[in-house]
Amino acid sequence: MDLLKKIQNNWIKKFSYPFIIAGPCSAENEKQIINITKTLNKSYVEVLRAGIWKPRTKPGMFEGNGEEGLKWLVKAKKLYNILLATEVANKEHVKLALKYNIDILWIGARSTCNPFTIQEISDSLKNSNKIILIKNPLNLDIDLWKGAIERLIRNNINNIGIIHRGFTIYKNYKYRNQPCWLEVLKFKEKYPNIPLICDPSHIAGNSKYIYEISKKAINYGYDGLMIESHENPKEALSDAQQQITPNQLTEILSKILLKKPIIKKYLNYLDIYRTNINEIDENILHLLKNRFLSSYEIGKIKNKYKIDILQKNIMLKQKENYKNISQKLNLNEIFIQKIFDKIHKESIKLQLKIK
Ligand code: PEP
Ligand code: MN
Repeated sequence: MDLLKKIQNNWIKKFSYPFIIAGPCSAENEKQIINITKTLNKSYVEVLRAGIWKPRTKPGMFEGNGEEGLKWLVKAKKLYNILLATEVANKEHVKLALKYNIDILWIGARSTCNPFTIQEISDSLKNSNKIILIKNPLNLDIDLWKGAIERLIRNNINNIGIIHRGFTIYKNYKYRNQPCWLEVLKFKEKYPNIPLICDPSHIAGNSKYIYEISKKAINYGYDGLMIESHENPKEALSDAQQQITPNQLTEILSKILLKKPIIKKYLNYLDIYRTNINEIDENILHLLKNRFLSSYEIGKIKNKYKIDILQKNIMLKQKENYKNISQKLNLNEIFIQKIFDKIHKESIKLQLKIK
């Protein structure tokens, strides 16, 4: 029996559609939390998000305010009658989040990657009826995501939803994290029972893309959005580039919801495959860019050591290799060869320029 099919979406039916969670990346101080909660447009935003423990790339950066921050959230909830959501990454976090009665706990992308972490969180939530949202893992490993969900279900945690926040694939991609819509929508198609929320902020990594990603998610039939919002994004202690002001948030949400969203169901594969092709084409361009950068570096070395630019034996080896791969992948060899001849010519042109 597929345990994931057991999840029911009753919990999300208690919220408006689409279900909107918004608030700062991190709870920075009491004033910030009180002000933003006051300013968030309550007719859209039902849940305030704020990170209390922040998983940062490097030590020595702002890592959140811990328990103190939970007190600010509770105060904001009392004042403005809003529900609360925060990230938990170990059993101590869970214990404190439960102590302060945080309404929704989410599990971050870095935690979903680690089965030990997920198991620890799950064990500390055994039989809980809290709403738990699980972000996708950093890498595009849908089974790892499913495994995390299953670890919760096995501990009789049933109010579950998932958050799509994009995947780490290439450097220098348009977005901070690649959406991989096709994979997530296939997952959604298999498990329409699991509420799916999009986090455009962490996909985008830049405030200018929040609208386009949010709109797409709503058109694809996502159940809600989690968007980072800060009164003064430039000054934010974490994720400054991707946060939007409460005014911008209202503007984006009203634009999206102006007309009742036309849900191009996730079953509309024509559109999904087109989106997928765009994602792939953009990747090809980024890969080409990386390839030419390496080729340029090679050109500098050849120039320095007076090595001939055209290395015929290397080129022939490459050709043979690509031919073998094409055969394995069932690609048209002649077509692939033409593409690589063109790429190779372009590389040589680039290297010739170095002199
Ligand atoms: C966050 O929501 O601020 C966060 C750290 O997200 P993610 O786990 O998606 O990186
Ligand atoms: Mn963030």
